[in-house]
Amino acid sequence: MILVSACLLGINCKYNGKNNRNALVLELGKKVPLIPVCPEQLGGLPTPREGVEIAGGGGKEVWEKKARVINQRGEDLTSYFLKGAVETMRTAESTGCQIAILKSNSPSCGSGAIYSGNFDGKLKKGDGVTAALLKEKELLVLTEKIFSQKEEEKNHNEKNKNGKSK
Ligand code: SF4
Repeated sequence: MILVSACLLGINCKYNGKNNRNALVLELGKKVPLIPVCPEQLGGLPTPREGVEIAGGGGKEVWEKKARVINQRGEDLTSYFLKGAVETMRTAESTGCQIAILKSNSPSCGSGAIYSGNFDGKLKKGDGVTAALLKEKELLVLTEKIFSQKEEEKNHNEKNKNGKSK
């Protein structure tokens, strides 16, 4: 069982009412059971909803009460993100998921990089609030980019092989 951001499976749970459907993640679902979760919906937020970012740090700092999740008007929505992360962790525990594939850069699901907190489209180092909790509980957290990296590596190796055989 692998926990997956629901938007990657084509579910319209993204803040703007759309999704982040990823064909490679869907393909994986043919081989391994996937458990879809949307931490922001599990936290009680509606869809569509306002876009938010983490100000003052990343998900780890949110759990340490050093950073907050805010919308563009500066309103604090941190409590929804904490609740959503706890509910997501409960889902992981009840289904026995040890691995999660989560949407990159999101203030909930991002792993390794998230939006800057300034609503300027830039990224900073850090995890989303849910990803930080899952990592703390020792789940392996990946993003959908792992598949594109693998594809790129495969294409690169194939090109090299073809180049050498000429
Ligand atoms: Fe996708 Fe995660 Fe955002 Fe939900 S919270 S829409 S699963 S990135």
